[in-house]
Amino acid sequence: VEETLVLVKPDGVARNLTGEILRRIEAKGYSLVDIRMIEPDRALLAEHYAEHEGKPFYEPLVEFMLSGPVVALRVAGNRVIEGFRALAGTTDPTTAAPGTIRGDFGRDWGLAVQQNLVHGSDSPESAARELALWFSA
Ligand code: ATP
Repeated sequence: VEETLVLVKPDGVARNLTGEILRRIEAKGYSLVDIRMIEPDRALLAEHYAEHEGKPFYEPLVEFMLSGPVVALRVAGNRVIEGFRALAGTTDPTTAAPGTIRGDFGRDWGLAVQQNLVHGSDSPESAARELALWFSA
């Protein structure tokens, strides 16, 4: 069965939305396989966000992800990668559809980075790489 990595980003944890986000994942019928609260270091984030290195939002993104604990979820289900991204909504929380996590709880705070509450892997290759990264010893 397919697995994905979901991260509740520091804004989601700080706003006490971890339970609500997990509730939506479980209500959809996906299964929680593993869960971990992590304070990532720069090395972990550099690997996680390698594809964005050099982009204008890269440094603010890393600083944001260092700003507090992150909850990592290993989630399983048929087509869960695509399904979680649909639950999350589009990247920009201002225009993410109402009914999605980002659409219901996110907005533009006027900061350098989109604080959009969650991350979800975007392909089976990314999921395998990211799950190994966040759930390694
Ligand atoms: P994620 O990978 O976190 O699920 P995503 O796939 O929707 O989100 P990416 O394009 O992978 O978005 O960008 C990673 C993260 O960087 C986004 O979730 C957001 O926090 C931030 N980000 C992306 N694009 C921008 C932008 N143009 N301006 C500010 N922040 C951005």
